[in-house]
Amino acid sequence: MHRDPAPPTLDLSLLRGFAFRCQPECGLCCFTSPAVAPGERQRLLQIDPEAPVSVVKGGDATSHIASREGGGACYFLSEARCRCHPARPFPCRAFPLHVALNHRAQASVVLSCPGVDLGRLEEWRTDDGPEESPVGLEEELEAVRGELRSPDVAPRSGTTADAWGRSMRRALRSSRLSDPADLIARIVRHPPRPSDDDFPPAPLPDAQDPLELLPMYQERGVGIVAVRSQGSGCEALELQEGGGGGRSLGVFSVLDHPPSMEGSAIELLEGYLAYVVRRDHFLSSALWTWKQLKGEGFQEVVEQRLRELGAQLLARANLRAMLRGLVSSPMSAETVELGIRAVDMDELDRPSLGQLL
Ligand code: SF4
Ligand code: SF4
Repeated sequence: MHRDPAPPTLDLSLLRGFAFRCQPECGLCCFTSPAVAPGERQRLLQIDPEAPVSVVKGGDATSHIASREGGGACYFLSEARCRCHPARPFPCRAFPLHVALNHRAQASVVLSCPGVDLGRLEEWRTDDGPEESPVGLEEELEAVRGELRSPDVAPRSGTTADAWGRSMRRALRSSRLSDPADLIARIVRHPPRPSDDDFPPAPLPDAQDPLELLPMYQERGVGIVAVRSQGSGCEALELQEGGGGGRSLGVFSVLDHPPSMEGSAIELLEGYLAYVVRRDHFLSSALWTWKQLKGEGFQEVVEQRLRELGAQLLARANLRAMLRGLVSSPMSAETVELGIRAVDMDELDRPSLGQLL
């Protein structure tokens, strides 16, 4: 008898210790073009028949809600409020959850979201991480559970899981490991810290790239800020909901050496990297890098990726501190937190061998 494949198990372990409350007047997650499933599209068009929800991106068959040109927000955002809130598509209902879909569906938290409390992040430096159940993510989890019941999810996950498992086993063998958990435990016990060789970090996109592709973050008292390379420095741009180009907030030098850091700042950086390495999505993106490099040990690739991520984080933290006129030496944990907020959405956008829900 034919049986439909079962949906993948939902792993919630990376939600422990986080509390979430959406911040009014933020809108960071709406500076995007969210994907829209066919059933969702009809509901959106009932709210606004003129809504541009049929833009096809990247040659796939998925619809997206268009964002305004020149670095603007999603068509439905108006004065930092969603005009289609009850009918908003799945990525918006699930945010700030991010779900990697491979051998399992693993949820993690998008730490760029200013509504996510990072108070327990450093506890991920321990073998087990924080114990507390998440707070304030119930509706988002409900959206994820509903999406997992969609008929296409189980077959999609099954196909990816086989290919992912084969690639991961080969990659782990290159470092004499048999289980991702062993690799994670090694990294957590000896977290790689960015060194002189990792600075300056890889350049940001530049003025040739569309504003909507630039790394962004939410800056208190300013709004949404995007950053790009400008000569040998880095330019910060204030984006407008309606688009039309960004307003320059200045060009700043790029951090070209590891900064001295307070003990609590080091703990927060290590906590972040120990969190990231536990994400299936990170290991999938490291797999993608490992395949390009050919011949490297997988553990070395993972460690190098984490050092590069740490260097990017510190450089953006420094930039944000300069923009606020609050540069301190040694660097404080508050400044490292600014860097985490400015880097995590980018990290989750990296190419990977896995799939997303
Ligand atoms: S980024 Fe977070 S705080 Fe900001 S609007 Fe989105 S969910 Fe709310
Ligand atoms: S549909 Fe609504 S929640 Fe989603 S990105 Fe657009 S404005 Fe934001």
